[in-house]
Amino acid sequence: MKNNSLPTPSPAVVLDRHLAASRARLSPEVKHILTGVLKEAVIEVVHEFFYQVDFGPDVRPQVHIVSHDLYCTCALEADCPAVTAVKVHLQRGLCEPAKMPRPGYFPTAPHRCPVCGARAGYNPRLSSPWRGAGWSCAQGGVSHYWQHQATALQAACAEKWQKLGIDPVTFSPPPSFRFPEGYKP
Ligand SMILES: [Zn+2]
Ligand SMILES: [Zn+2]
Repeated sequence: MKNNSLPTPSPAVVLDRHLAASRARLSPEVKHILTGVLKEAVIEVVHEFFYQVDFGPDVRPQVHIVSHDLYCTCALEADCPAVTAVKVHLQRGLCEPAKMPRPGYFPTAPHRCPVCGARAGYNPRLSSPWRGAGWSCAQGGVSHYWQHQATALQAACAEKWQKLGIDPVTFSPPPSFRFPEGYKP
């Protein structure tokens, strides 16, 4: 009972690598199945930074969780049809975009190292309530984690300096800044 016809009244569509989003570009049959699957998708933002994609009871797994940076938590990751569903919904304005975490905060470990783009993985020893999930890089290890955190901190400081109107190099207020009348520093 395999591969001899389109699964018209089939009990369940199983989203595995045979039905990955990239397969739809190569096979009209896969495209046909996935178009049907995507039509049923119900999407909502959960836990601020994630999309919950519910394909209904005819699809296994029925519910997928896609991160703000468009990776699914299932084995298909960025190639999951749930990611396509989120993209389509966002393009058509059918759902609100999930919140982007502030730089340096990771609601989950990133899939790619933000420093060099190599594969990154969860590293619980670096997790903290302020920085979120810890991770390390397949190429640069924990040093890329700390490099990224330092860059994020620098960017946050630069933004603060800018708001306060202070030049971080000279550490002095810009010439337009006036002390209040009568105040002699
Ligand atoms: Zn998925
Ligand atoms: Zn790296």
